[in-house]
Amino acid sequence: GSMIGILGGGQLGRMLSVAAARLGYRCHIYEPGAGAPAGHVAERVTTAGYDNEAALRTFAESVDVITYEFENIPTSALDILETLKPIRPGREALRVSQDRIIEKDFLTGLGLQTAPYAPVNSENDLRAGIATIGTPAILKTCRFGYDGKGQARLDAPDETGAAWAAMAGAPSVLEGFVDFSHEVSVIAARGLDGSVACFDPGENVHREGILRTTTVPARLTPAQRTDAVLLAAKILGALDYVGVMGVELFVTPGGLIVNEIAPRVHNSGHWTQQGCSIDQFEQHIRAIAGWPLGDGERYSDVVMENLIGDDMDKVPALATEPNVAIHLYGKAEVKTGRKMGHINRVKRG
Ligand code: ATP
Ligand code: MG
Ligand code: MG
Repeated sequence: GSMIGILGGGQLGRMLSVAAARLGYRCHIYEPGAGAPAGHVAERVTTAGYDNEAALRTFAESVDVITYEFENIPTSALDILETLKPIRPGREALRVSQDRIIEKDFLTGLGLQTAPYAPVNSENDLRAGIATIGTPAILKTCRFGYDGKGQARLDAPDETGAAWAAMAGAPSVLEGFVDFSHEVSVIAARGLDGSVACFDPGENVHREGILRTTTVPARLTPAQRTDAVLLAAKILGALDYVGVMGVELFVTPGGLIVNEIAPRVHNSGHWTQQGCSIDQFEQHIRAIAGWPLGDGERYSDVVMENLIGDDMDKVPALATEPNVAIHLYGKAEVKTGRKMGHINRVKRG
């Protein structure tokens, strides 16, 4: 049978591997860290660094197509891999989403709205940015941030020193604070044939920069729902994208503002595991393997709740509740702020 190569061995890689297995594929995970969640369910695991050219070549030669579960894959590794096997989604999606400024330039170039933003490479830049954007604002490192890491909020102009220090010299972007009523995301897919399918938008609640819950249906008017889907389709088309993407949006009276895009399956799409006959993981495997996209229509209301750190203590009680599907990632160590699993609370309509 065919082998799918997945860069990254976290929970997203794990759930992609399970979906791939159901479609008859085997998976080869490439993950530098030992004992990774995806390694437990995949056929093959390579624990080597992204600077190990021989390991990268052996990995690529063993698979038919390469995908990934995180966007911060070093360019040098991609340069090697792409000469050997197709990488889906493609390089352009990674180039754009690896850097918050390149991403915002790309989005505004498509005519989409983002937060006002300014590049920051010094405390002077930050002062100048605050002078035009104002406070409150958020300073974020351009690269490698996730779960709200690498961010500092500025509530007043005199906080530039502390905020810039928190970036530890990394190239950063200052974003105006968007006064949103709520946050939603669109999990969108594009097939090899260019067809696009979107899951119903979900409404997201974050705490301390980390996603806590996603609820479907989201509070959106029919016009907002259409906007959300159309803008996601525009992004996918512009990148000639193949696979599933998460598009995070702020809902404001002035329209939908794009927060960020993630070129992969997305935490806010986990509800699809219980809300649709084809979930985001199968949809991604279908897309990258050249299958037709599946039917992602939502057939129930769902609330997805992340199990973070000590939330794991709630699992025995959750296991006794009706209509709760539990998904655990098999991580060896519980840590504060670490995503250990999630549940989907299903309301059948
Ligand atoms: P992820 O884990 O989603 O990749 P991240 O570290 O890239 O997270 P962001 O999505 O940029 O972080 O920000 C996390 C959350 O912080 C957002 O979902 C939103 O709630 C809040 N936030 C970020 N930027 C802004 C902004 N410009 N205005 C208002 N709120 C913001
Ligand atoms: Mg992000
Ligand atoms: Mg985000």
